[in-house]
Amino acid sequence: MAGPSTHPLIETMTQRVLLCDGGMGTQLIARGLSPGESAERWNLDRPDDVRAIHRAYRAAGCDLLTTNTFQGTTTALAQHGAARDVDAINRAAASLAREVADGAWVLGDVGPFGGFLEPLGETSAQELRDIFHRQIAALIEGGADAIVVETMSDHAESRIAIQTARQIADLPVLATFAFQPAGSGIYRTMMGVSVPDAITAAIEAGAAAVGANCGTTLGLDDYRRLAGQLLEAAGPTPVMLQPNAGSPEMVDGTLIHPAGAEEMADLARDLAAMGLRIIGGCCGTTPDHLRAMGQAIAARA
Ligand SMILES: [Zn+2]
Repeated sequence: MAGPSTHPLIETMTQRVLLCDGGMGTQLIARGLSPGESAERWNLDRPDDVRAIHRAYRAAGCDLLTTNTFQGTTTALAQHGAARDVDAINRAAASLAREVADGAWVLGDVGPFGGFLEPLGETSAQELRDIFHRQIAALIEGGADAIVVETMSDHAESRIAIQTARQIADLPVLATFAFQPAGSGIYRTMMGVSVPDAITAAIEAGAAAVGANCGTTLGLDDYRRLAGQLLEAAGPTPVMLQPNAGSPEMVDGTLIHPAGAEEMADLARDLAAMGLRIIGGCCGTTPDHLRAMGQAIAARA
C-alpha cells in the first residue's frame, strides 16, 4: 500500500497547482438552508442538493471536492440534536461527493469540534481523539480519499485531529487554520496562535499540506501577505490557501462577500506564482469564482 508521500494526490500537487472547491455553506443557503438548521443533515435529507453543489464545483474544474461535514463531529451535531446520526451523516457525505467526483479527489472535511480542550474547557485529549475518530472513520468508510482538518484556531486541537486521521488510515491529511490580523502585518488565530506555531504543529502531527482558510476579517491583500508567511513557516511542506471572497460586509441586513470572480482570479494567479500548491475558496466563493481562479492558474502555467 502506498504511503502518503507516494499518494497520487501528493504526487500530483508537486507537478501542478491543484484547485480545491469553494464555499459549501453559502451554496446550501442559496438552496434554502435556514439559519440555525444543520447543514450536515442535508447529506441525509437533501442529498440531491448536496450532490448538485459538488457537481457544480467539479464542472468548474475543481480537483478536490470537500464533503459537507464541517460541523460533522458528534459534539457539533449535538447542537442540532443530530448526534445520533453522526456515522450515517459522514458516510453519506463522503459517498455523495464520491458519486459525482468524476476523477476529482474527495476530501473528508473535519472542522472544530465546538468546544475547548482542557484546561480552558472540559474536553480531555482522549475524549477529543474519540470524537474525531468517529467522524473520520465514517468519512473514510464513505469513500474519502484524504482528510482536511480546517478552520482551526487551536493548534492542539488540530494536532489531535491530524494524528487521529493518520492512525485510522494511510491517507494524506491537509490542515488549515483561520487567521486574523494581529497588528503590524502579522496574523494569529482567534486563540492567539501564530502562523509559525500553527504550521509547525500541523507538520509535526503529520499533515501533508498546510495553510489557511476562512479569514473572515482578511482582505484580499491580507491573503497575499499571509501566503508569504505560510510559505516561510512551511519550508518544503506544500502550502494551501482557501480565501473567502473578501471580508463580509452587512448590506441592507444581508451579509455580502464583496470579491467578484475577477478579483479572486487575480489573487489565485498571484498565489500560484508565489508557490502555493493547493488553491481554493472559502465563505462566499461560488463555482463561478472557482472557474475563474482555475483558468487564471492554468493560464500562467
Ligand atoms: Zn469560510
